Amino acid sequence: MYDLQIFLSNFCWSNHYSFPGPQPACETDQKSLNRMTKYIFVTGGVTSSLGKGIVSASLAKLLQARGFKVTIQKFDPYINVDPGTLNPYEHGECYVTEDGAETDLDLGHYERFLNSFTTQANNVTTGRIYQSVINKEREGAYLGKTVQVIPHITDEIKRRMQLLAASGYDIIITEIGGTVGDIESLPFIEAVRQLQWELPEEDCLVVHLTLVPYLKAAKELKTKPTQHSVKMMSENGVHPDIIVCRTEQPLSKEIKAKIALFCNVKIDAVIEAADAKSIYEVPLLMQQEQLDIICLKKLNITWYPEPDLTLWKGFLDKLYNPTSTVTIGLIGKYIELQDAYKSILEAFIHSGAMNECKVEVLDVHSEFITADNVNEKLQGLDGLLVAPGFGHRGIDGKILAVKYARENDLPFFGICLGMQMSVIEFARNQLGLPKAHSTEMDPATPDPVIDLMEGQKAITNKGGTMRLGAYPCIIEKDTLAYQIYGSELISERHRHRWEFNNKYLDAMQAAGLKASGLNPETNLVEIVEIPGHPFFIGVQYHPELKSTVENPHPIFVHFVKAAKAFAAKKEVKDPGSLQGDMI
Ligand code: GLN
Repeated sequence: MYDLQIFLSNFCWSNHYSFPGPQPACETDQKSLNRMTKYIFVTGGVTSSLGKGIVSASLAKLLQARGFKVTIQKFDPYINVDPGTLNPYEHGECYVTEDGAETDLDLGHYERFLNSFTTQANNVTTGRIYQSVINKEREGAYLGKTVQVIPHITDEIKRRMQLLAASGYDIIITEIGGTVGDIESLPFIEAVRQLQWELPEEDCLVVHLTLVPYLKAAKELKTKPTQHSVKMMSENGVHPDIIVCRTEQPLSKEIKAKIALFCNVKIDAVIEAADAKSIYEVPLLMQQEQLDIICLKKLNITWYPEPDLTLWKGFLDKLYNPTSTVTIGLIGKYIELQDAYKSILEAFIHSGAMNECKVEVLDVHSEFITADNVNEKLQGLDGLLVAPGFGHRGIDGKILAVKYARENDLPFFGICLGMQMSVIEFARNQLGLPKAHSTEMDPATPDPVIDLMEGQKAITNKGGTMRLGAYPCIIEKDTLAYQIYGSELISERHRHRWEFNNKYLDAMQAAGLKASGLNPETNLVEIVEIPGHPFFIGVQYHPELKSTVENPHPIFVHFVKAAKAFAAKKEVKDPGSLQGDMI
């Protein structure tokens, strides 16, 4: 499906556009790769939540669609070494890469847009920078010198900003987290200034994303916050080459001219970023504004093919023209937070489009599900997803929801903690172990059907110590999982400490809960399912992390398909039952 990857992996800089100076060979050493790579920095001004991640991912998509090998990295100014120890109230979802890095959720957008993997090197925090500098200081690597923000911290930032050049990228986009003017962003802005000074002028550019607010009372768009934000950057020695303006109203030529004049950029470098119906439309909006072409010009890249966005546009067409609707209940405890289940929600968008179906996700707070109201809360759904999570809060509601799905033939999909809850529910209600539990929530349970992994028992440090990243899994034939994946060997990403307790494996299987996927080395149960149920699957890993626009995840695709079938059956039995009984 995705030929572009093959094209990109064979991509040779010198074949595709002119490059000033001597042409480097395709198989080059690190030095020439560094010289070849161009850098785009994306900063944000005025306020947070303007969508730097989406703008960066959209620009990257356009450049990728023109044949360039692009990656995006995020530099976050906070002091946590990574966001793995932050709770979702602080930081939304923690996104996990193939190589097991716990990262910012923007990396999810990068992967979903580019359909390519990111790594540990794609997300760097102030904490990680300081950690390496302090470790080096302890090793005596600074030879008696005083270790300072400039040059030692900024040198480490610059080193990491250029690290991925060794992987042969033509263009590296670096999103700087936070807002210009924050104290903690300063070393990053200073590192950008130094890099701009050190590298050839045409190898670096800065895109600044700002807000142009519309004042209803005055019926006017206001450019002053943008002017101030650009001024503040200039005081720090960095001048943006391109200004991307988030706006709820179209920017007139006059407004663009005003921003251009006061911010000292050309008028074509003032880009309108209007609110979009879907984040996946932003690459096309940016293309209309010629953001990619302006970047290429500034980077002195004069030859580039037309972008191939066929797959992307095909996806948008399906997204905007669904032929049916299903309602999926998302059972979680962070449902009031938009970002806590980001990748799951995006995976539903991808898989819905694939099924030409609009997926309405109904958030159901697990803490408020009780034995008395479970039927009332869940009836009317076409599928039920029990979300990942940690700790005791909301557990009972999740178990009740699993029971409801199992007993009512409602398509069920459990992810990580959701899978563990399905095992507990089955043990309690089908195996006759009423006190079965996970030792995470009840360390004294007589039936620890979910138990701490052996390798986790001696671990005391919380950061980066879970079972993280990609692990292989062998799928048994003649199972739902095999039907979904069409393959015996798969690889999926993990983030957990507890696991299915294999002491109960035989009894569970005899009672009808099938372990259809196992880790080949450790025999850890990765997938459970109930044969005979129309669609009941729980996975210990996080498939949502690998769903992209151009490659929707097969479990989500099949789950939505099963929900469609459930809805159609319901419609035949009871026309009109979908309406009116939502929570
Ligand atoms: N709390 C569970 C564990 O650590 C599940 C984690 C998750 O859902 N990511 O095993």
